[in-house]
Amino acid sequence: MRTDTHCPYCALQCGMTLVRQPAGTLAVEARQFATNAGGLCQKGWTAAELLDTPDRVRTPLMRADRDAPLRPVSWAAALDRVAFEIRRLQHAYGPDAVAVFGGGGLTNEKAYLLGKFARVALRTAQIDYNGRFCMSSAAAAGNRAFGVDRGLPFPLSDLAGAGAVLLAGGNLAETMPPLTRHFATLRQRGGVLIVADPRRTATARLADLHLQLTPGSDLALANGLLHLAIRAGHVDQAYVATRTAGWEAVRGAVAEYWPERVERLTGVAVPLLHRAADLLGGPGGYVLTGRGAEQHASGTDTVSAWINLALALGLPGRVGSGYGCVTGQGNGQGGREHGQKADQLPGYRRIDDPAARAHVAAVWGVDADSLPGPGRSAYELLSALGTEGGPKGLLVFGSNPAVSAPRASGIRQRLSTVDFLMVADFVRSETCEYADVVLPTAQWAEEDGTMTNLEGRILRRRRAIQPPEGVRTDLAILSALAARLGHVTGFPAFPETVFDELRAASAGGPADYSGVDYHQPGEAFWPYPAGGAATPRLFLDSFAHPDGLARFVPVRHRPAAEEPCADYPVYLTTGRVLQHYQSGAQTRRVPALARAVPEAYVELHPQLAATHAIRDGQPVRLTTRRGTLTAPARLSEAIRLDTVFVPFHFPGVNDLTNPALDPTSRMPEFKVCAARVEASP
Ligand code: SF4
Repeated sequence: MRTDTHCPYCALQCGMTLVRQPAGTLAVEARQFATNAGGLCQKGWTAAELLDTPDRVRTPLMRADRDAPLRPVSWAAALDRVAFEIRRLQHAYGPDAVAVFGGGGLTNEKAYLLGKFARVALRTAQIDYNGRFCMSSAAAAGNRAFGVDRGLPFPLSDLAGAGAVLLAGGNLAETMPPLTRHFATLRQRGGVLIVADPRRTATARLADLHLQLTPGSDLALANGLLHLAIRAGHVDQAYVATRTAGWEAVRGAVAEYWPERVERLTGVAVPLLHRAADLLGGPGGYVLTGRGAEQHASGTDTVSAWINLALALGLPGRVGSGYGCVTGQGNGQGGREHGQKADQLPGYRRIDDPAARAHVAAVWGVDADSLPGPGRSAYELLSALGTEGGPKGLLVFGSNPAVSAPRASGIRQRLSTVDFLMVADFVRSETCEYADVVLPTAQWAEEDGTMTNLEGRILRRRRAIQPPEGVRTDLAILSALAARLGHVTGFPAFPETVFDELRAASAGGPADYSGVDYHQPGEAFWPYPAGGAATPRLFLDSFAHPDGLARFVPVRHRPAAEEPCADYPVYLTTGRVLQHYQSGAQTRRVPALARAVPEAYVELHPQLAATHAIRDGQPVRLTTRRGTLTAPARLSEAIRLDTVFVPFHFPGVNDLTNPALDPTSRMPEFKVCAARVEASP
């Protein structure tokens, strides 16, 4: 039997076919689909192996008290315990005593039902998700510039016809390898690729121009390129006059980013700055941003700086040019649209908007006044667990914050002291080890649902096999818990039923899914209103602000929250490798991927290594103000002399990273902090 579906990992959502083998296992075949054109990366090819991983959780687990081991129990016992603890904590401390933490890999239906469960069944404001760590700065910047946030407001295939693509802070050759086919076509047609990254990554090696900037200087680079674009006459004056507002303030702000100053701030030589501005100033320009631009305490402003550049050149809202943000997690786009975010209701509505509250409350059959308001953002929620006034219990779905949160050792301490922790997952992740109850969930190939990829395209995930006996879907878990809390209706366990309700709840909102057919969503780009049409390209006529104009936002460079000093003299930056995904809870369990990259490593320049007598492969000790990691050295001339890089997919890496938050998006500064490197004794 053959089942057409999509890869479970990143937001490219490559098309694949699962083929049932005689032994009952599944084999993966690549499938022609718009984003991957028949290609898959190693993660996709091996995705089915995780279905039978030896440490898969196949029965609910529970511990009698914090010192007791997790032991198998019946579903009834596990769900009764969760419901009892919710009631106990909320009775003692109020509705916000119980918090919910979701994930950007959850299907649209799960994200939707999780948000509804929190607001209606728990009445808690305390819900957020790991996408806050991943995409929230670009979302905030996109909303303030365009009035709506959709990662790519155009189909990915448009990139193949570009004149120039500038990719700021993304390593797509490792994170989304099939996407680079579009870059290859672009270059065959005479287009150019410009990459801004502190490392000469696999993607930077594909580029015509690599801007190897100092970590944390992205905003200065964008402002400097806009300064040069103005000088060179690349600004599209007619577009700026008719389609934007706020240009003069930005024009004034970037006046102080003359090239020599920008070279000092970024480390990028003046001639390269001129070349980048001129290449991008030609026809068919695209600006793309990734996590490297976002994961800063100034991430929202940094993305705004790149959007300012794109707007000045007249790129967004036209066929054949544009600005987009490359979303990371599998449902990073849909996961942030339907209500698992602290400040949001389904359809990408704001939870503090009275009209949005009234609409969603009517769909849910509750009084709008009963809906809680905005809650804490992800890191603030996790770090408040068990504290005075903070949540006393936490329900985790599809996330592994014990590894993925910044200053993770502090978060693990909070997880170990919170009154009650429930984790729904399909493997015993590091977070499960702190749980009082673990509920085993179905995996991607065992369930139906929809995902929304980085283009805002809604896709069908199709079930190829039944989940193992003893395993339930997240929807079934939410439905059962809601029933135990007195909501015997309103929380269906069937994806299509949930999707129908999501369509109604999203109707009229920025991310309107009301016209999407659950069975044939492949070409459905939102907004797709009932009776209307899909929207593959946004903003062609107007932007989503009431006056139809895009907004320039003046922004200024500010140093990273931690700059190198005498005690911590180098920059630490983190990122991904080809073989692993997010916290590694899934890919570290796939033998071929684990063999290829079995552990974290410290990439550093041979000259930096020589000053500390560090040899390739030797254990090194990497220390920041928050912790120490010992890992083998990997010497590489592809990295700056003042910077070390560690892939973040492994326990311990985020013990080092800085939880300084962006004031708007509340996104942590994963991408840069000050560190000390030394040979391990
Ligand atoms: Fe899966 Fe992303 Fe790899 Fe495609 S690029 S196979 S979606 S991990």
